[in-house]
Amino acid sequence: MSVGYVTSPTYMQHEMGAHHPERPGRLSAINDRLIATGTDALLVHVEAVPADIAQLERVHDSRYIARILSVGADLSDGEYARLDPDTSMNQYTATAALHAAGGVAQAVDAVTAGNLDRAFCAVRPPGHHACRDRAMGFCFFNNVAVGAAQALLSPNINRVAIVDFDVHHGNGTEDIVQHTWPERRFDEGGADVLFCSTFQHPFYPYSGADTVADNIVNVPLPAFTRGDAFREAIASKWLPALDAFAPDLLIVSAGFDGHAADEMSQWLLQDADYAWVSRTLCEVADKHAGGRLVSCLEGGYERASLGRCVDLHIRALAGAS
Ligand SMILES: [Zn+2]
Repeated sequence: MSVGYVTSPTYMQHEMGAHHPERPGRLSAINDRLIATGTDALLVHVEAVPADIAQLERVHDSRYIARILSVGADLSDGEYARLDPDTSMNQYTATAALHAAGGVAQAVDAVTAGNLDRAFCAVRPPGHHACRDRAMGFCFFNNVAVGAAQALLSPNINRVAIVDFDVHHGNGTEDIVQHTWPERRFDEGGADVLFCSTFQHPFYPYSGADTVADNIVNVPLPAFTRGDAFREAIASKWLPALDAFAPDLLIVSAGFDGHAADEMSQWLLQDADYAWVSRTLCEVADKHAGGRLVSCLEGGYERASLGRCVDLHIRALAGAS
């Protein structure tokens, strides 16, 4: 099993202030853990290239893209441009965001071409709150949506499932899926995308609980959700939908902020729950998609549990115990 690990030095240069939880040290914690456990030696290291405008325009409004690329150009060190109460850009943010989306597209190309079996994209900034024309929730470009659009260029890929186990609802991904790949397009000869999300509710961004669409499977779960309820929700809501859809590729929004040690949320998941969902998604990929799976980092803010859980996640992707 060849598993790619997509990184870029640009991911370390984007930061939103000294006390912001979405900080470069998250990636250092992951890298340190992968080296300490030996998992790093299992991986094919890939340096991300930036997305081009055409790749972004498949899922984002062109005026929005131009705005993100222009903000920050005239900032100096330590200056920030605030886009929403918790989302800011420094002079390196646009470059990092381009490399995050580009890295995911690159991983998708490698997996759909058969050059890699699976990939994990250790990207910053994350992407699943980024809407078609709006930055929010630490996100600028929707990395998984850019990846899905890239995958659908391949003649072998007609159906892409995006699955999101971050503790927050992937409202940006939902917004883009609804605009870009409305339900039932596949029946009309077009592309088809399924979006499955589990999330704490009610909780930021307060969306998803009332969405009704055949290609969107939202599973709101309350505060203090434990692993048994999380696993039951995946098994009873996601897996039947994924089996019926039979994706040609799985793209994962992998957020680890529902861990009991992570103060970002009130969920109480443990390391073993993230290992379980990772193995389960690999089984879905093996059953329907020739094993093809591309996973992208979203949230996860408590560095020790983030490092451990990403390590377990990647070991599942690699088929290692
Ligand atoms: Zn999150």
